[in-house]
Amino acid sequence: MKNINFSLQNVNKVYFGSGLIKSLDRILNRKRNDNFLFVIDSFFRNKKIINNFLNYKKVKIIYLNTSNEPTTFEVDRLVKKIKSYKIKYNKIIGIGGGSTLDTTKAISNLLNNSGSSKKYQGWDLLKRKGVYKIGIPTISGTGAEASRTCVLMDFKTGKKLGMNSEFSIFDEIILDPDLTKTVDKNQYFYTACDTYIHCIESLNGKLRNPVADNFSNAALKLCREVFSTRNLKSKINRSKLMLASYYGGCAISSSMVGIIHPLSAALSIVFKFHHCLANCIAFRAAKEFYPQEYKEFCSFLKKHNIFIPKNICKNLSNFQKDQLYKSTIIHSKPLKNALGHNYKNILTKKKIIKLFERI
Ligand code: NAD
Ligand code: ZN
Repeated sequence: MKNINFSLQNVNKVYFGSGLIKSLDRILNRKRNDNFLFVIDSFFRNKKIINNFLNYKKVKIIYLNTSNEPTTFEVDRLVKKIKSYKIKYNKIIGIGGGSTLDTTKAISNLLNNSGSSKKYQGWDLLKRKGVYKIGIPTISGTGAEASRTCVLMDFKTGKKLGMNSEFSIFDEIILDPDLTKTVDKNQYFYTACDTYIHCIESLNGKLRNPVADNFSNAALKLCREVFSTRNLKSKINRSKLMLASYYGGCAISSSMVGIIHPLSAALSIVFKFHHCLANCIAFRAAKEFYPQEYKEFCSFLKKHNIFIPKNICKNLSNFQKDQLYKSTIIHSKPLKNALGHNYKNILTKKKIIKLFERI
């Protein structure tokens, strides 16, 4: 192992295990005077598994419709609404998939950092730590529960970029695999693949380090074990994927994604595909950069009979070509990680459009 100097900020406390959602009781009762703000995916409205915890007297709940992934516009709107309640929330608790966890992080950050979320899209732009935040993932794969970012889209600027900062890391997370039982099979697969893709991009990158490599390898091992079995959603597989997602998030916090994510971000901006499905589509475009992994990915698709849309970029208008190019090339850090400083000479506009036309 090469000699490295390294600092890594991580989630302070991790609860992991089936049924551990009940740890919320302890958290809610820890300080009786706290005001709690819950941000919950609307799928869980009136669901017993969550409802038991919501009777606590000082709880305010925001149910999120996650049919669209988080935008700067929506996050700013929510923060304005929360500020209008004139209550000082001491703890924010997010329960849901990556969209809900990212919205929770963004709200927490903006309650203690003034101005629009747009101001903080980028690296280390937040000035102050946000409100104490607790994340409870209900789908495994994005690693948002562990990562130092919260991804927001801005359709006006064509930016799909996170608030990448130590302040975006959750203070506590509860990883309870019972919560992922109800996820639709395709969605479950797409999101699980996000971990697989984060890790293969990190391991094929130029910014590798032993810390990220070990997290990535641990996550990949678990993903491969899960994808090679028949029932992706068995109890043991739900546990393995939840752990893999956490490891993947830790890996990506200390390394960087590669080519698939910038291409995927452009598909989300131009065609509004959700992140994890967009990744699976973009993998086809990035086949030449990750040939072995692409082959393996295709074997998973076949084994689990997963549908990935095709021919999306067959008849692109000039406007769409411009948008796809701009929304890909804006991701300089991952592209440098994958291709080096020379990335703009390798990924010319012509080349990028050609890659998209292959999908
Ligand atoms: P999601 O949060 O967008 O949810 C997808 C769908 O699943 C929604 O319809 C939701 O209602 C439903 N759902 C959630 N939990 C469920 C459950 N237990 N049972 C049934 N349905 C359920 O999905 P995702 O793939 O987890 O998150 C994608 C988002 O994560 C994107 O916005 C992406 O940009 C972000 N992301 C963030 C990071 C990060 O490090 N912060 C990393 C990767 C991706
Ligand atoms: Zn991702």
